[in-house]
Amino acid sequence: MNKRRRVYEGKAKVLYEGPEPGTLIQHFKDDATAFNNKKHALIEGKGVLNNRISEYIFTKLGEIGVPTHFMRRLNMREQLIREVEIIPLEVVVRNVAAGSMATRLGLEEGKALPRSIIEFYYKNDELGDPLVTEEHITAFGWATPQEIDEVMALALRVNDFLSGMFLGVGIRLIDFKIEIGRVYEGDFQRLIVADEISPDSCRLWDIETGRKLDKDVFRQDLGSLSDAYTEVAPEPVLVELVGSCDVP
Ligand code: C5P
Repeated sequence: MNKRRRVYEGKAKVLYEGPEPGTLIQHFKDDATAFNNKKHALIEGKGVLNNRISEYIFTKLGEIGVPTHFMRRLNMREQLIREVEIIPLEVVVRNVAAGSMATRLGLEEGKALPRSIIEFYYKNDELGDPLVTEEHITAFGWATPQEIDEVMALALRVNDFLSGMFLGVGIRLIDFKIEIGRVYEGDFQRLIVADEISPDSCRLWDIETGRKLDKDVFRQDLGSLSDAYTEVAPEPVLVELVGSCDVP
């Protein structure tokens, strides 16, 4: 058996070389980490759930014309994706005060923001992903002003779609993080949504009770993370997982 070439290993995912040039295999691990890796646990089945939830969301985004790196599912934990040149930014969209912004600005957690706010964090684990401004991004050449505009437009489209999708099942989208990559097509370059969108990268609260259904359950020891993620999983995903007896 040939050993696959590991291109990158992150906290929750591994990227392997794909079967064709320009493709990668994205493998979802069961590892849960928080506080820049200071807290770590293995949550059985998390990788399976996130693989499916991210696939579902990326497929739906594709259907409304938001380009993503997702190509197709390969197995329970892996998907084939387009290789991108990742922009080294974590793009966070916030609708409600929570997390680091609530702490930084002394805002009451749960207060709706006057409008959706986009923030950029420089992707660098050693520095703890610091908040940066457009000035830093353009001065250090991480993205051009035109790319920043495109990234913001994409982020807001994703926010609109996700807010509506979750609202439809009684879940409030508090905030989320996306990553954006460049792909090259002949003389053209365009930006597409990469990485993953799952309860690892979103804050999701039950609209009725305010109960947290995302990685804060792990960060704040609020109960079973896989139960929370199972609640978030869209019905078609659950039906498939239960059908294949792989639901954790
Ligand atoms: O911690 P903070 O409040 O800045 O996080 C904002 C949003 O971005 C949350 O939904 C969080 O889960 C997500 N995030 C992430 N990966 C990071 C940092 C934040 O998915 N490295």
